[in-house]
Order: sequence, then structure tokens, then C-alpha cells
Amino acid sequence: MKYIFDFDDVLFNNTEQFKKYMYECLEDAGVPSHVAVEYYKKVRHEFSLRNFLTHFGKEHIYEKIMSKCPDFLNTELLEIIKKIRKENCYMITHGEKEYQLDKIKKTGITPLFSEIIVIQGSKKEAVERVCAKHKGEEVIFIDDRADRFADLDFKKFPNLKTILYTGQNLEPYLQ
Ligand SMILES: [Mg+2]
Repeated sequence: MKYIFDFDDVLFNNTEQFKKYMYECLEDAGVPSHVAVEYYKKVRHEFSLRNFLTHFGKEHIYEKIMSKCPDFLNTELLEIIKKIRKENCYMITHGEKEYQLDKIKKTGITPLFSEIIVIQGSKKEAVERVCAKHKGEEVIFIDDRADRFADLDFKKFPNLKTILYTGQNLEPYLQ
């Protein structure tokens, strides 16, 4: 069995924890949260923390924000993942490449995955490539967004299963 994990809001508590901390740091640096939130809405599709901070002239707090990344891991899920062999684990994450890779690197979980793929558009190609590579095995793709599943070709890849992650216990599926 192979597993594909999403990063933000699956392995990493991005919305509930990381972003809140980011706004707190900006507030401490003199940028009111409502101003930062408004600007975030404009750039969220191409979000890069460096560019975001540069917009406010606050590049110097980048490391302060990023150094906290390990604190925002989904530790319950990671305890289960540690029992899965690395060659069975993939990560496919959406976002600006440099920022996503730096976030992942800072969490220290890189060694748990055989491949980490950062994509900008649809996850279809990357997910289906993993399915094609492991045709004889079940591939379970776990993401917190249902729209990430919408364009997948389940007819062509009958070995593909999806789980919409909402914080439920995944232990029964992961072995
Ligand atoms: Mg996500």
C-alpha cells in the first residue's frame, strides 16, 4: 500500500496554528491583523511568506515565523506515519515552491517521505504518476480539500482511493 499525503491542514496545522502565529508576529512588528488578513486575501493563490513580509517591509521576521514550524505539526498523524516505511510515503503539496519546501524542511519531516512534490495547479498529474508507478498496489491519497479529487481518473487508476481529511483518526487506514 502506498500513501500520498497533503501538507497544509493535513500534516501541518497551517490555517489554525501557523497562520495565526504569522499574524501575531506581524502584529508585534506593527502590522495590524486586519490589514495583513486583507492583503492575504489578495495574494493567497500565489502566497509566498517572503513576498508577503516584503510588502509590509518586515522581511526580518521571516525566520522568527518559520522557526516555529515544528510546533505546528499534526503530531498524532505523524506518529502513525512514522510506522509506515519511507518508500510507501509520498507528499504532494500545493503552493509556491520555495516557500512550501522551506516550510516542510523546517518541520523536519522530509526524511519520512520517498518523494515530496510541490505543484502549482492541479494535483492530478502528480497523483496519477504515483498510481501508474505502483499499478499493482492500492494508493491512498489523503487531502483536506475535496476539490483536489475532482479531476482524478478513477477509471484509469482503479488502485486509487481518496480520503477527505477532517482530522479523523487515520490509523485504521494506515498500515
Ligand atoms: Mg491542504
